Amino acid sequence: MNDWMELEKKYFLNTIKRSPAVMVRGEGAWVWDDQGKKYLDFVAGWAVNCLGHCHPVMVEAIKEQAAQLIQVSNQYYSIPQIQLAQLLMENSCLDKLFFCNSGAEANEGAIKLARRYGKLHGNGAYEVITALKSFHGRTLAMTAATGQPNFQEPYTPMPQGFVNVEFNSIEAIKLATTPQTVAVMLEPVQGEGGVNIPDRGYLEAVRRWCDEQNLLLIFDEVQTGIGRLGTLFGYQLFGVEPDIMTLAKGLGGGVPIAAFLAKERAAVFAPREHGSTYGGQPLACAVAYAVMKYVIEHDIPGNARRRGQELMAGLNALRGQFPFITDVRGRGLLVALEFDREISQPAVGLCLEEGLLLNPVKPNALRFMPPLIVTSEEVAQAVAIVGRVLGQIGQP
Ligand SMILES: *Cc1c(COP(=O)(O)O)cnc(C)c1O
Repeated sequence: MNDWMELEKKYFLNTIKRSPAVMVRGEGAWVWDDQGKKYLDFVAGWAVNCLGHCHPVMVEAIKEQAAQLIQVSNQYYSIPQIQLAQLLMENSCLDKLFFCNSGAEANEGAIKLARRYGKLHGNGAYEVITALKSFHGRTLAMTAATGQPNFQEPYTPMPQGFVNVEFNSIEAIKLATTPQTVAVMLEPVQGEGGVNIPDRGYLEAVRRWCDEQNLLLIFDEVQTGIGRLGTLFGYQLFGVEPDIMTLAKGLGGGVPIAAFLAKERAAVFAPREHGSTYGGQPLACAVAYAVMKYVIEHDIPGNARRRGQELMAGLNALRGQFPFITDVRGRGLLVALEFDREISQPAVGLCLEEGLLLNPVKPNALRFMPPLIVTSEEVAQAVAIVGRVLGQIGQP
C-alpha cells in the first residue's frame, strides 16, 4: 500500500474495494498511475468516457465555458442547456427534458414524472414494475427499484411502489400489473446485472402491454445511451420507443450530468413540481453539447458497433483454447465474457498487472466497456492480454 492508499483507508467510509492503482493522468483509451505505469482502460470511468480521456473537444469546451460562465441559477435562462436540449430532441424520439446530475437522480425524476402521470391520467396509480438483476442507482428509492435483494436487505424497510419481476418474462409483467401500476422501467440491456440481452420480442411485447394497459414505458439508458450499444440510444437498436428515457454516464463524457426525457403525452410536470440546483449548469451542458455533437458528427456509435464486433470475435476465438469460457455476449461496446467458474476477481487482478483495466461484473464474468473511440489495435491488445491471463489462471 502506498501513502495515498493508507490515507484513503483512514478517511473514507468503507464502501469501495479499489484496485491497487492511483490514477493520475489519461489520454484516449489509456490511463497512467502515480508510478508512471500505463493501462488500457476498458472500464472507462464506468462506461462514461465515451470519447476517451481528456479528448481535445472536451478540454476546449471546459476551458471556454469555464472562462465564460460556470454556474447560474435555473431562475434564469442559459444558452448551453438550451443548445444541448435541442440536440438531444432533434436526435431522439422524445419531446421534453429535465437536466440533473447523476443516473440515480434522473431515474428518481422519471419515477416522479410517472407518478404525476398516474395521478392525472391513471386514477392515482403509482406502482412501477422493474426487473430482477436490474440496476437503477443508489438512492433509497432506486435501491427499491433495483431488483437485487442483496442491495436492498441492508436498508429495509424499502420505499413502497416498486415490484421486481423476472427479466425477459412478459408473463411476469402481466401478472404483476394491477390497477395501481403506472409504469414499467427497464434497461434495454442490463449492464450491472451482467450484460443481459433481452430475448427477441421481449421489449416489443412490453411496449404492446404498456399501450394496452395505459402504462408508461421507462427506459433507463444511463449505461446504454450515447452510442454504447452501437446506436445513439439503446431503444433504436431494438426498435422500441420508450415514453420516458433517462441518460447519464456517456452524456457528459466524464463531467457529471444526467437527464430524463419524455414524450409529449408523459410530459405532465407543472411549475415547481421538480427542480435541481446544479441541473443544467452551463459548464456541464457546454461539455455535454460538445461531446454529443462529436458523437453524432463522427458516427461514434458506428465505431462502437464495429470495434464491438471485433472484440466479440476476439473473445470468441479464445473459446477453443479455454473451454471454461461459457459465453461471450454483448452489443456494441458493452460486452461480457462468462466462465463456468468464479475467476473474475483474480483475472481482473492479473489484467491490472498486465496493463488492462476490466470490471468483474459477476464472480464468473468480466465486463468490457472501453471508450467508444477505441481502435482495432487497442481491442486486439486487450484480447491478447485476456488470453495471456486466462492462460495463467487456466493452468491446473
Ligand atoms: C450507473 C447506472 C445508474 C446510476 O447512475 P449514477 O450516476 O451512479 O447515479 C443507473 N442506472 C443504470 C442502468 C446504470 O448503469
